[in-house]
Amino acid sequence: MKILFAASECAPFIKTGGLADVVGALPKALASHGADVRVMLPLYPALAAVADGGEEVLDLGALMGYPARLIAAEAAGLKLLLLEAPHLYDRAGGGPYLTPEGQDWPDNPQRFAALGQAVARLVHSGADGWFPDLVHAHDWQAALGPWFLKQADSLVPSLTSIHNVAFQGLADAALGPSLGLDMAGFHADGFEYYGSISFLKAGLVASDRISTVSPTYARELMLPEFGMGLDGVIAARGGDLSGIVNGIDTEIWNPATDPDIPAPYGPRSLTRKARNRAALAKRFGLSPSEDAPLFCVISRLTRQKGLDLLIDALPALLGRGARLALLGTGDADLESAFCHSAETHPGQIGVVIGYDEALSHLMQAGADAILIPSRFEPCGLTQLYGLRYGTLPVVARTGGLADTVIDANHAALAAGTGTGVQFAPVTQPALEQAILRTCDLYADRKLWAALTRRAMRQPVGWEDSAAQYMTLYQDILSAGAEASA
Ligand code: ADP
Repeated sequence: MKILFAASECAPFIKTGGLADVVGALPKALASHGADVRVMLPLYPALAAVADGGEEVLDLGALMGYPARLIAAEAAGLKLLLLEAPHLYDRAGGGPYLTPEGQDWPDNPQRFAALGQAVARLVHSGADGWFPDLVHAHDWQAALGPWFLKQADSLVPSLTSIHNVAFQGLADAALGPSLGLDMAGFHADGFEYYGSISFLKAGLVASDRISTVSPTYARELMLPEFGMGLDGVIAARGGDLSGIVNGIDTEIWNPATDPDIPAPYGPRSLTRKARNRAALAKRFGLSPSEDAPLFCVISRLTRQKGLDLLIDALPALLGRGARLALLGTGDADLESAFCHSAETHPGQIGVVIGYDEALSHLMQAGADAILIPSRFEPCGLTQLYGLRYGTLPVVARTGGLADTVIDANHAALAAGTGTGVQFAPVTQPALEQAILRTCDLYADRKLWAALTRRAMRQPVGWEDSAAQYMTLYQDILSAGAEASA
């Protein structure tokens, strides 16, 4: 089965969030099921060295007014199809979407409509003889791919995956023709969204099937509280919607071999985790006391992540002698609130503002628990890393957090199944209760060690989920074959 992934991010090359991790890891897991996956990505400066080792496989002619081509290259275990269009992607700046000043590039609609157009051209012309059986588009940046396929009456089916419905790719309706859109599709059942063009909606209505990154988020997306205006569109396609939990790259996230931590460990050598804990405490200037848990947060600092609630819950955490190490970047008010807390509570709260992959490994290895009080969370990855590293996730009961963490309540403890702490509703009192409950669990050292070991044994790799994607792809292809028979 030949599958074309199309996306705007892919770890380890270019990443702003969980989307990149999925696009970087899932193709490798699918390959072990026999799938031949190629990942189409814009050729950003971060990929220039990779492209240097590649070769042209398709001349795309003019794309948004200037020449463009596809370059095939292999790197990090992935087969890449790099969309070389320097006028669109060869830019300095803050990641794939932002100017050096941190604003969205004003031509982001053109930049990512071009990605969609390149998908359709590849499906039509092939890449040096390689023709995909199916297109899997990720998030709004790639979602015009399925639309353009439909616009061209292509027989190649598609799947659009929603990694976070908060990002929808809205563009001024007047841009439509310049983006390559036939404005006959500009209506409520097409890509119109309250007078604008919505890239994501285009993908959702045009794809053969839709998926998202957890079963609970799939259900939530059909509700007004979570659907962010697309709940009706998604509910209308409820029968075509699947939720498949993300896995993690268990080679990169392996406490037994992690090069970023001072003392690699496994479920049977938990005493070595204490050395990482000491290193973490030192790095954040925290007391290494083992009387109470050391919590960590590794997150974008935004309202979605519920960290404003944590600011208000800090007195409860500190009241139990617990400590907090936070790594994050995002909203200025949250950054300054956490920095202020660290200044007023030295030794108890440590904060690093920034994005630091290596430090995030040390935190997962050294902390006792990881706090994730998200208001919504399509899947979430940090709780999966937490499980793998025996750092118990304390999570809001929403989206993928609800699907991947088993609350260690009395019944679960009696049945020997708990792997973390869940709370609902997502409010400050409920978060405080969860923190206090975690402190109580931690105080029972034998129980805590058992929970930690159980967490570490959870299957958090891609094996199960890749198998589910394969079944979904197969269903799509069979339905397509029936329809054209
Ligand atoms: P989202 O995609 O909404 O940001 P996820 O939990 O799905 O949330 O994925 C976040 C990813 O980004 C994880 O791999 C997490 O470890 C990483 N991450 C987030 N903030 C930071 C940071 N400040 N430094 C290092 N890694 C971070």
